[in-house]
Amino acid sequence: MATFTGVGSHSSLLPVSAKPSRTRSGHRRASVLVRNAISVENKSLKLDKSEEIFTAAKELLPGGVNSPVRAFRSVGGQPIVFDSVKGSRMWDVDGNEYIDYVGSWGPAIIGHADDKVNAALIETLKKGTSFGAPCLLENVLAEAVIAAVPSVEMVRFVNSGTEACMGALRLARAFTGHEKIIKFEGCYHGHADPFLVKAGSGVATLGLPDSPGVPKAATSETLTAPYNDIDAVKLLFESNKGEIAAVILEPVVGNAGFITPKPGFLNALREITKENGTLLIFDEVMTGFRLAYGGAQEYFNITPDLTTMGKVIGGGLPVGAYGGRREIMEMVAPAGPMYQAGTLSGNPLAMTAGIHTLKRLTEPGCYEYLDNITGQLVNGILDSGKRAGHKMCGGHIRGMFGVFFTSGPVYNFEDAKKSDTGKFARFHRGMLEAGVYLAPSQFEAGFTSLAHTSKDIEFTVEAAEKVLKRI
Ligand SMILES: *Cc1c(COP(=O)(O)O)cnc(C)c1O
Repeated sequence: MATFTGVGSHSSLLPVSAKPSRTRSGHRRASVLVRNAISVENKSLKLDKSEEIFTAAKELLPGGVNSPVRAFRSVGGQPIVFDSVKGSRMWDVDGNEYIDYVGSWGPAIIGHADDKVNAALIETLKKGTSFGAPCLLENVLAEAVIAAVPSVEMVRFVNSGTEACMGALRLARAFTGHEKIIKFEGCYHGHADPFLVKAGSGVATLGLPDSPGVPKAATSETLTAPYNDIDAVKLLFESNKGEIAAVILEPVVGNAGFITPKPGFLNALREITKENGTLLIFDEVMTGFRLAYGGAQEYFNITPDLTTMGKVIGGGLPVGAYGGRREIMEMVAPAGPMYQAGTLSGNPLAMTAGIHTLKRLTEPGCYEYLDNITGQLVNGILDSGKRAGHKMCGGHIRGMFGVFFTSGPVYNFEDAKKSDTGKFARFHRGMLEAGVYLAPSQFEAGFTSLAHTSKDIEFTVEAAEKVLKRI
């Protein structure tokens, strides 16, 4: 029985069948003295404490969670309850260690709990957590974002990606004087009412076509088209002439699995929006600072009118932002009449985490590194899948990736839904038992970080090879 080192239980909790072996290099918490081997075939992942806590949580929180996909509904089994994170690793409350490819859904791009970010947070904390008044750190993060993201001349900080998209939508409507918007099937722009139409992963995973509680009036101005289908967009423009405020999209989709734009698609959207006096909004909550330091707009060399951000810019604290050309942004209150506010917006702790995360990302070679290890990971998994006889496809850009259990190609959400989600669930469970934490849904992108080593990737690919053979 082949064993993999290091990712598994504490020695005291180790199943009898698992053989102790050398410890992995990398972070070790002081409380954890020895990392032991766990066999990939070993299905006795001990999760007693996780189960106990989650069972209690179900009485306290709807579904036991504060965000639906965390509940593991689409892959089955109980979710894991975590105790701590560091670098590329997560530890659950039972002491199991995992290599993490969720990265808190994107923010952890430089690795979890980075020492420099933590040190800066501690210094900032000493001066207080929130002023509800201007602070210098807002300028520092704003300058970094403006310098990085080509389309952004001014920025407004908020507390989540959802808020950023709500703000950008209101602003687009205020600026153009139009109300209709076009979004794409499978793209997620947070949980605000007007976007909860064909909204991808979280909603799709639960099998909810739309959410009850969203008034018809809130979505009646939301038009949808299949991703990568420029003809469908043209038809919508023709039948709604002079009425469309904005086209909003994920420039690379991460909320319907990982889907890239066809060559020319983003350019065509740029042209048609310009011709029609419609704003182009890149929702870069996921892709911002992940595909490139300047986001997807730098990577693809397309300049949108407005950009929404989140995840990475908060470095693990709650931050969102929207930004764009000065003439548009100056409509936002109090510079202009479009109202949008936030009690905790721009608070010093969140700004600090963002500033120091971005600082790390300006060091040379970061994105090349992410590209290399992520390519190694995805190619390794796809090769193993092919050898095991599975129909699979997938890809990556820099530190964002995904694989589907269908031969593909996947250009839109309909294609993505051809994936064998039952097989994905078995793959997910197998990887979990091997000590690899993947997003618990076929319709979510995966993420790597600067803290992931080649060894982590090799371990993961080896684990995938074994799991793919038996599912
Ligand atoms: C995560 C995400 C959001 C929502 O951000 P929250 O911080 O979860 O509110 C919006 N758009 C995209 C593309 C996202 O990936």
